[in-house]
Amino acid sequence: MNQQRIWSTSETLSRDEYHAIQLKRLKDTVDRVCRDVPYYSEMIKNAGMQPGDIKDLDDLSAIPFTVKEDFRVNYPFGLFAVPKQQIVRFHASSGTTGKPTVVGYTKNDMATWTELIARLVTMAGVTDEDVAQIAFGYGLFTGAFGLHQGLEHVGASVIPMSSGNTQKQIMIMQDFGTTALISTPSYALHMAEVAMEMGVDPANDLNLKWGLFGGEGSTEAMRQEINRVWGLFATENYGMSELMGPGVSGECQALKGMHISEDHFIPEIIDPATGQVLNEGEVGELVITTITKEALPILRYRTKDITSLHYETCDCGRTTVRMAKIQGRSDDMLILGGVNVFPSQIEEVLVSSDGIGPHYQIKVFKQGYLDRIEVDVELVDAEVLDSFQLLDSLTQSIRNRLRAVLGIDAKVTLVEPRSLARFEGKAKRVIDMREEK
Ligand SMILES: [Zn+2]
Repeated sequence: MNQQRIWSTSETLSRDEYHAIQLKRLKDTVDRVCRDVPYYSEMIKNAGMQPGDIKDLDDLSAIPFTVKEDFRVNYPFGLFAVPKQQIVRFHASSGTTGKPTVVGYTKNDMATWTELIARLVTMAGVTDEDVAQIAFGYGLFTGAFGLHQGLEHVGASVIPMSSGNTQKQIMIMQDFGTTALISTPSYALHMAEVAMEMGVDPANDLNLKWGLFGGEGSTEAMRQEINRVWGLFATENYGMSELMGPGVSGECQALKGMHISEDHFIPEIIDPATGQVLNEGEVGELVITTITKEALPILRYRTKDITSLHYETCDCGRTTVRMAKIQGRSDDMLILGGVNVFPSQIEEVLVSSDGIGPHYQIKVFKQGYLDRIEVDVELVDAEVLDSFQLLDSLTQSIRNRLRAVLGIDAKVTLVEPRSLARFEGKAKRVIDMREEK
């Protein structure tokens, strides 16, 4: 690995220095929310605590969790810790049902957000020499604006394309000499297909060097596929509106997990069933406390994302804690015949099979009392469909590998290239029909 740029000296502090910063900022945050956010002062009081009870970082675990539902209950501004006059930006995440989750930023919050994005795009390889094309949707969603301001801050030339209009995306890439692509991983794969149809080979005819992907989960196999078709170096970043937007964490070029900016966030891993805090390296649900946000400080937010934390110094020289690739959502976890399965585990099997593209659909249903699963997978080459022998051996090999992961038999159907649904935002690949009566 080449010597990497590190944006801020705050990314290379000692553990003791992070602890001291975190403790001071946590105390300030708890004091502030108890004073300025009635919802939190009530919550802390109901937990039998007072603001001054935070004497050590371990005392954090006595504070109750904040969950997505708390945003809905307090819609739109009930969790804000500053008057609306101090808000300079709103964003919101689309709820699948009912009201969106509303977030706000003060001027200082915007400066912090910009700084943290600058750290993550620098980690990913972007410099002031890059031309960065943002193919996230601009609007209330935090993704596009979040990356936008941080990329400008490091001096990259930003193209605010927004999502969709894929042929135009490819044309602009050619004409503007785009070197960095910012999108969801599934949209990156879709764009590559469209480029090929236009007679453009993304790896050879375009100048892409970096891919910064986020907004949805992905697998290592998907990364390999994106690297191959685009001829770029893909990194992943992580965030959510409730905590800030993108900028909570991102991968450096060592690809050993996503660095969390610990001077702004305190991460914990809990057992999703019991809420108990787990140790370094143990897999569970990520919980984050924001310690510098002015408009919307959040204590112990349950992200629902399943991961683990790793504290040893990274090969890149940064000392901030790294979170492993998200293994799934505690919500999306499928329980099949009593076994916990994440869709990402199924994807790993499919995408690592020869002749199989990155597009698939999973259907789960009940047959009598038993859980049944059907997986439709797209072939890369339609000609396989003409050879019964090839089709059969490929289907069998996928079934066997899925059985090893799932513990039950799946019905595997290989379908024609480009026959399954495509997604420009978050991919919806699992249809669970078991709840239907
Ligand atoms: Zn690193």
